[in-house]
Amino acid sequence: MTKPIHFYDYSKDELTKLLTDWGLPRHTSDQIFQWLYKKKAKSFEAMTDLSKTLRENLAQKASLSGLTLQTKQVSQDGTAKYLWQLPADEKGQTAVVESVLIPMARDEEGQAGRYTACLSTQAGCRMKCTFCATGVPKFGRNLSPAQIVGQMLGMEQDSGTEFNNVVVMGMGEPMDNYENTLKAMRTLHDPKGINLGRRRITVSTSGLIDHLVRFIKDDWPVSLAVSLHSADPEIRSKLMPINRSNPLDKLWKVMKSYSSKRRLPVTLEYILLKGVNDRPEDAKKLHSYCKDLLCKVNLIRYNPVPSLPFDAPSEETVKAFREDLKARGMKVFLRERKGVDIAAACGQLGYENKLEKSN
Ligand code: SF4
Repeated sequence: MTKPIHFYDYSKDELTKLLTDWGLPRHTSDQIFQWLYKKKAKSFEAMTDLSKTLRENLAQKASLSGLTLQTKQVSQDGTAKYLWQLPADEKGQTAVVESVLIPMARDEEGQAGRYTACLSTQAGCRMKCTFCATGVPKFGRNLSPAQIVGQMLGMEQDSGTEFNNVVVMGMGEPMDNYENTLKAMRTLHDPKGINLGRRRITVSTSGLIDHLVRFIKDDWPVSLAVSLHSADPEIRSKLMPINRSNPLDKLWKVMKSYSSKRRLPVTLEYILLKGVNDRPEDAKKLHSYCKDLLCKVNLIRYNPVPSLPFDAPSEETVKAFREDLKARGMKVFLRERKGVDIAAACGQLGYENKLEKSN
């Protein structure tokens, strides 16, 4: 079986080579690149300055992402969750993956009318964090670069909006799908294409230390967020089994190295779970862990998942935790809850869907 060709998998140089091999001139590949990433064409058919015969030929040989939109749910707050069907693999297994369009009243820089795309990198997740719906079902598969980029472009084409920010915080651990996610990030960043700046793309990881060392060396064109959730080794290991092999002290060192080299803060994601990591002593430990680290903390009030044994703390507890950190001089944000009614909020993706099924 020959591997299907998806154009979003190709960098500009790779696409030029592919199309040259197909006998097309350079200026045609430039036109097609423009259609893909500047004009954001939905299909080859929409590339109207190419001849009809060429468009038909391209559609026979290739597709853009290989994703098919299965359903879209819209929350009362305007957040939209997209469910994409992936093509069957060599064993005939199909899988689905979700991504989220999040309208922001204001972003962290205070700019209004912004849209954030939350993208997935895997169908399922091998990290098995105990509070997260994505880690519950059997792991499906890694997504290709085209399937990662295709989620963003597909949501733009469907909604008619243009994203100002991308967060790679959907289903999966981006570093566990290292090469494909890196390639997708380079496509999002490419100034000749989508042209999103480093500060406009945030990749969130559970903190795989060896991968983070590579991430720094390879200079990913993104900002870094790390899911911390506790600065206490025992609590963190209970929430995130990977903490046993990726301990907090080594994680601190690699984050320090990132922030020193890039001169950028690391965003620490901290989901507040009732009675687990929301107490004054947890705030104290977090403050002491962050000493001498250029970082900011994103607090997230837990979004409950019915089958998991965790609850959200009260609004008062969340406020008290935030004020405690602020009083200690830390930079703290409380993430607005979005899309809870359609299970599109942080930690809820994959909950309502069976991730893998046989044809
Ligand atoms: S929180 Fe992230 S890393 Fe952990 S299981 Fe969920 S998707 Fe995977």
